[in-house]
Amino acid sequence: MNEQPMPGPIRRTLAAARSHRPELSVIVPAFNEGENVDALIGKLVPVLEGCVSSFEILFVDDGSSDDTLERIERFAALDSRIRALRFSRNFGKEIALAAGLDHAQGEAVALIDADLQHPPEILKTFVARWREGYEMVYGQRVDRSTDGPLRRWLTERFYRLFQRFGETPLPEGAGDFRLMDRKVVLALRKLGERARFSKGLYAWVGFRSIGVPFEVQERLHGTSKWGLHKLTRFAFDGLSSFSTLPLKLATYFGVAISIFAMTYAATMALRTIIWGSDVPGFPTLVVSVMFFSGIQLVFLGIIGEYIGRIFAEVKRRPLYIVAEEIGGEPLDDDEPEAPHPARTTARARQST
Ligand code: UDP
Ligand code: MG
Repeated sequence: MNEQPMPGPIRRTLAAARSHRPELSVIVPAFNEGENVDALIGKLVPVLEGCVSSFEILFVDDGSSDDTLERIERFAALDSRIRALRFSRNFGKEIALAAGLDHAQGEAVALIDADLQHPPEILKTFVARWREGYEMVYGQRVDRSTDGPLRRWLTERFYRLFQRFGETPLPEGAGDFRLMDRKVVLALRKLGERARFSKGLYAWVGFRSIGVPFEVQERLHGTSKWGLHKLTRFAFDGLSSFSTLPLKLATYFGVAISIFAMTYAATMALRTIIWGSDVPGFPTLVVSVMFFSGIQLVFLGIIGEYIGRIFAEVKRRPLYIVAEEIGGEPLDDDEPEAPHPARTTARARQST
């Protein structure tokens, strides 16, 4: 902008008015959350009405098989500020968030879970911080007592590992509950990765960030959709996309074992020269053959995981497929920055 500098809040509200953009978009990924939709909208709308001039609530229905979509449609028919994208199938929360970011129109965009574990009132603080000039305001969970002990332990291990070996430091306790300025959203749209570890991506794009502590609530209805298996995959996605340590481990092991083998060979040679040779050593042979084949298979597996991810990236499939867009009104001006080519939806492709 080439006008006189003016205070952040006024500038943003003016920008929102000029472009007919809502001041805030709230993205809600929802997978079989039918029971929570009414309560969420009931809490969210008054909070938003109290803290921003205009807003939209954008649900991303991630292939739900219950009545999530019908319930959202009912609200969307009455209120144009509520809209939804329906995925053609379940693509996972991370991808649902990416789709939300691609379609959100607000000057700021907030992400919130549908199960009311993220208290909507905190959005007021998020907005206040954003108006102070922070471009990324993230919720920091103060305790994880709503997770089971195993999940808590594994999560802690994972963060330790990531802190040590990841390329990008992750802020403590920061999750998906956050608010971002449009600038950050445009930056995130340019990242076209398939294996999405959004916590890492948020940290990677940078920007002026601040944490806001909050207490995670119990889920209102239903159970967590993240099984141990999904979480493990997610953890490996995180590590493999932000660190090459697993690949380097192979080199370290290889070097260590080679040094050991050479020392052993030298000792053996000396022994043979001094005391002559004898046949025993069969168990040593078997054990070492098995040990080395094991190590080799493990590292082949790790390399395979990376190749699998590279393969997924080079296939260049769209990240998600929007089957239907529900509610809302199109903006006057078209989105200035197009999403990454790999992230255009199947529908967008057809129309170009
Ligand atoms: N979710 C989703 N797709 C999935 C799994 C979850 O959109 O495949 C949504 C879910 O509806 C909720 C949010 O992601 O709004 C967080 O999911 P959940 O509560 O199951 O995870 P947790 O709170 O245990 O991390
Ligand atoms: Mg939850």
